[in-house]
Amino acid sequence: MSDEDNMRLAIDVAKDAEASGGAAIGAIMVKDGKVIAQGLSNPWGKRDPSNHGEIDCIRNTAKDNDLMDMQGCTLYGTLEPCSMCVGAALWAGVDRIVFGAYAEDVAGNDYEYDNYSSEELAKTSRKAANPSRGKIEIIGGVLHEECKELLKDYKEWQKQ
Ligand SMILES: [Zn+2]
Repeated sequence: MSDEDNMRLAIDVAKDAEASGGAAIGAIMVKDGKVIAQGLSNPWGKRDPSNHGEIDCIRNTAKDNDLMDMQGCTLYGTLEPCSMCVGAALWAGVDRIVFGAYAEDVAGNDYEYDNYSSEELAKTSRKAANPSRGKIEIIGGVLHEECKELLKDYKEWQKQ
């Protein structure tokens, strides 16, 4: 499965997230070519400000697969991960994050520090749980337009 194929699955999860009352943001975890978990963005519904799609996916990966060390895993998300989610992925030992839409596409990037780029952050940050494994790789813009389209109502949704 290519990154594009896996992103299509993450887009389906994003639609599920929206249908369940969250923002249209979804994430999946892939290991050895298999989807081993998914995550839905729904902070309001879950009454949990940290319930971003990527965090939900990391939690489900650990819980459902009894997997604390996510070496060999790639996290796919429809939206660029925030610094909290990159941090969680570093602590989990995830090897790669692949995302679709850029934060500035949907929210003007105004929830992060100035000139935030998760790809740049990844170049500076070691895997927290095991620094000897080096850095996480982050690749953005996979199925960019489709992922951006999912979030065309994002600003209105945020005001709810
Ligand atoms: Zn996040």
